Amino acid sequence: MTQSKSAPSLQVADRIPDKASRDSAPPSLTPSAPKYEFFKVVQDYLDRAASVVQLSEYIRLILSQPKNEIIVHFPVRMDNGDIRLFKGYRIQHSNILGPFKGGIRYHEGVSLDDLKALASMMTWKCALLQIPYGGGKGGIKFNPHTVSKQELQRITRRFFHALGGNIGPDYDIPAPDMGTNAQTMAWAMDTYMNTVGMVNKQSVKGVVTGKPVASGGTLGRDKATGQGLVHCITEWAKDKNFDLEGSTMTIQGFGNVGSFAGVILSRLGVSLVAVGDHTGYLYNPEGFNPHKLQDYVQEHGSIGGYPNGRAISREEFFATKADMFLPCALENQIGREEATALNVKLVGEGANGPCNPEGERILLERGIDVLPDILANSGGVTVSYYEWVQNKRSEHWTLEEVDDKLEKAMKKAYREVTAFSRSRKCDLRIAAYALALSRLEVVYSQREIFP
Ligand code: NAD
Repeated sequence: MTQSKSAPSLQVADRIPDKASRDSAPPSLTPSAPKYEFFKVVQDYLDRAASVVQLSEYIRLILSQPKNEIIVHFPVRMDNGDIRLFKGYRIQHSNILGPFKGGIRYHEGVSLDDLKALASMMTWKCALLQIPYGGGKGGIKFNPHTVSKQELQRITRRFFHALGGNIGPDYDIPAPDMGTNAQTMAWAMDTYMNTVGMVNKQSVKGVVTGKPVASGGTLGRDKATGQGLVHCITEWAKDKNFDLEGSTMTIQGFGNVGSFAGVILSRLGVSLVAVGDHTGYLYNPEGFNPHKLQDYVQEHGSIGGYPNGRAISREEFFATKADMFLPCALENQIGREEATALNVKLVGEGANGPCNPEGERILLERGIDVLPDILANSGGVTVSYYEWVQNKRSEHWTLEEVDDKLEKAMKKAYREVTAFSRSRKCDLRIAAYALALSRLEVVYSQREIFP
């Protein structure tokens, strides 16, 4: 018997969910700030830091743009038989210090310019932490919460297949970022492995980091970014003679970075009084149990419906009195209104670019300290590097080894940035950029320009 097949319908994924998500986004979840050009903001930080260290103009010029901008379109069969066309990106900013390195983001807001900003920030982060990597970032423009697990797997595999030889364990090494996790990296690694031939299969495990431990990941990578943020906070507390025990925090974004930062800080006696994510904001003056909330998010995908808190608006969340606020979601969340409303002593940037320049200026004028992203969230790439080294050497380090190394690396970077900021009278962000640039300059001046 022959069956007549109807042609699968074709949807363009980068348009449809985008409009749908814009239309359905609750107004209270959107920041007050006007249109934000993230890449221009990061270029401005580069220019300001370049003038502090009197960076050679030709190096500033090279670093002001990414080396490669890769855009791929690829079709994926959805569970209902429809074919959707997805748009994926990989931006490779610099590989002067080592292979391109940086996360893969799945989010409906993914754009070329934002990824250029994020890729360049990876270059500064690796230079600051003295990790032998350059900077990269990639992603797919779609909402991962709207597809099934099987669809997510097919999207991931087609994307990594489309990237093909544009990535590799000694060339460009992706990792998880917003909307992706260890499972995504397992699919990515497996896809890449199946394109290199049987003989090389086992030697390319390091093509991505942030993998599950059993598939070549490292112990301690899941909590690494949150843990690194906490190391910066404990150093800040020492500097300020501030007792973390009995203090309070609010966290925006309770995914990988936010939840681990919350869990680890709660062990140091910090109480989580307000929390928010893409579904809304919750308040509990008695303090949430971050472990239970993390388990709940694992099971339900968001904090939505968590029973032990009162729903509050985004405005109320930003006005909540606490000792510290940890933005661990998206960029451009703290503009003029949020910075004026925040009633905290410290903003620790778990996310990349959460403060816009006006927001940061207001925070600093109000005497609120800001731990800048390229320092505060660099624990993730640091432990990714440890994973890559273990893959290369076929080793398995204990959690204690990973934790000890990370602690030393974070504390050293914190000390260097704060010392530079004091001696050169610039804020911590510009200090972090300036230190990174001065390290890049040494290498450029030694290698010079080919040919
Ligand atoms: P994730 O996907 O695990 O979690 C993201 C969180 O942000 C979720 O709780 C989500 O609900 C929330 N969110 C999304 N849109 C929001 C909105 N409009 N309002 C409020 N909350 C919203 O992602 P992650 O890996 O934790 O990454 C978070 C941030 O940290 C990103 O800026 C990422 O670039 C940065 N970062 C991540 C790592 C890492 O190792 N994962 C390393 C360095 C920096």
